Amino acid sequence: MNQPQMGGVAALNVPGYVKHRGLIDWVARVAALTQPDRIVWCDGSQEEYDRLSEQMVQQGTLVRLNPAKRPNSYLACSDPSDVARVEDRTFICSARREDAGPTNHWVDPNEMRTTLDGLFAGAMRGRTLYVVPFSMGPLGSPIAHIGVELSDSPYVVTNMRIMTRMGREVFDVLGEHGTFVPCVHSVGKPLAAGEADVPWPCNETKYIVHFPESREIWSFGSGYGGNALLGKKCFALRIASTMGRDQGWLAEHMLILGVTSPQGKKYHIAAAFPSACGKTNFAMLIPPKGFEGWRVSTIGDDIAWIKPGKDGRLYAINPEAGYFGVAPGTSEKTNYNALATLKDNVIFTNVALTDDGDVWWEGLTKEPPAHLIDWQGHDWTPEIAAQTGRKAAHPNARFTAPAAQCPSIDPDWENPAGVPIDAFIFGGRRSTTVPLVSEARSWTEGVYMAATMGSETTAAAAGQQGVVRRDPFAMLPFCGYNMSDYFQHWLALGEKLEAAGGKLPKIYCVNWFRKNADGEFVWPGFGENMRVMKWMLERIEDKATGTDHLFGISPRYEDMDWAGLAFTEQQFEQVTSIDRDAWRHELALHGELFEKLKHRMPDALLQAKARLEAQLEG
Ligand code: PGA
Ligand code: MN
Repeated sequence: MNQPQMGGVAALNVPGYVKHRGLIDWVARVAALTQPDRIVWCDGSQEEYDRLSEQMVQQGTLVRLNPAKRPNSYLACSDPSDVARVEDRTFICSARREDAGPTNHWVDPNEMRTTLDGLFAGAMRGRTLYVVPFSMGPLGSPIAHIGVELSDSPYVVTNMRIMTRMGREVFDVLGEHGTFVPCVHSVGKPLAAGEADVPWPCNETKYIVHFPESREIWSFGSGYGGNALLGKKCFALRIASTMGRDQGWLAEHMLILGVTSPQGKKYHIAAAFPSACGKTNFAMLIPPKGFEGWRVSTIGDDIAWIKPGKDGRLYAINPEAGYFGVAPGTSEKTNYNALATLKDNVIFTNVALTDDGDVWWEGLTKEPPAHLIDWQGHDWTPEIAAQTGRKAAHPNARFTAPAAQCPSIDPDWENPAGVPIDAFIFGGRRSTTVPLVSEARSWTEGVYMAATMGSETTAAAAGQQGVVRRDPFAMLPFCGYNMSDYFQHWLALGEKLEAAGGKLPKIYCVNWFRKNADGEFVWPGFGENMRVMKWMLERIEDKATGTDHLFGISPRYEDMDWAGLAFTEQQFEQVTSIDRDAWRHELALHGELFEKLKHRMPDALLQAKARLEAQLEG
């Protein structure tokens, strides 16, 4: 049925249940441009998933893992040049440069369209164009939105089936005239006759392009994660943040969790951290010794869509349906729930293969296996690693797993109405300066904390690692519009909710990553972060005390619950102390950020900064 027609134009093969003329015409236009050999409309069924996976096993893209160890699971190893998001190749092509702002790469949309037309012309020759309909958020939820991705990578299709609600029901919701975000993706390597249909290596030229006004995404030359699974960072953050600005809601780089006290009172927290700073671990936290009776449940681990409810509170959904988590460092000890989620139905990317057909990565077990095939296909032994420093798994190796398999999944995770948010947490990776936790004294002060957040860079993005960069709201790589306007949007939303008599979430700034003079982490992190969360919840209930300092309120040693943990007052001092010189320098760095963003920077934040400076010198 999928035979190319005469003249080399692939048959459209529109299934009878697709009634949306605009969508069909768009698929026809993209096909005419990219010239695939075949067009396949994905229905999202298990049968289709299995068939595509088997096809990728045949072509060498996937290795089927040992079904006795890891049922229905696969390993994909990408090209070594295509292992992370490429921020310097990511573009926001708004009509006006100032609407993209100084933190985004901007190209004039007309110029970009000409470039893309050239790149995409014939790009899918020899390949199959897959039509992938998906919903971000529970199908039909008032907070959800629909997208359709056209991709020439079957790896993208199977990952999208895990990461989103993908399949033919989406067409029912769309009907004849529904709105969707059109997403076009190509690995950018047309095939010659007889060449294997594998996604790697891709074209060396990469473009990840967003048109915020027309709400379109075009991605070229990468087959990997956030560059290619367009529902995630491209749609759910960059395009959705723009939709949120226009429509009065928020699309945030946040996990969402529920926390239930021993008395049965439940709270919801949304927390923003930059990539590879432990969002997935935090979302699946298991309360530590001494916290028997507390329960943490997972709603989302990466992205939150948040809309104001009629009662003046903020309600959040997780627009995703799976986890695309960082594998290295994930173990039964650091994240028991993630490990349990990974038992079956998983796609692993760039981890190592064991001799018995299972997977391994640094940190999974204390003792590495005696022999592995590393993520680049080479023999790996602990001896080779000791000699060469070669890692078995890429530091940004990932797992793609269905959210529903997580043992800590929250019963409300698919509630179309979302969950009401009690607190926002913002955290970066800072070895110095920023204390374990501080509470903002006002919404504005909280927005200031989030806006000036800094973090040491990680392997989740290509480029130098370990340098502190400002990452406002952990949204630096993901905000689809001018960052100063984004701050203003947050401030305005707070004002609006307050004026309506709503209950604003409290805002906290945290740092799990302070190091001592020997370069070791002082705070044990992971489950022990529950202690910090408990203090926050008691603050929400007006039950806990703390001490005022330069830029917020922090707990004193005696304000924290230390049951079950030997953590000394002196260690606590190491993670909470405020060094005035370090803060002078820190404020100078805030100043650099504000200088960069000065066009349209909200006055309220400039004033907040002036207050801090006065206090520091006073
Ligand atoms: P993330 O990146 O770690 O920010 O979620 C995802 C990706 O690389 O696709
Ligand atoms: Mn992320």
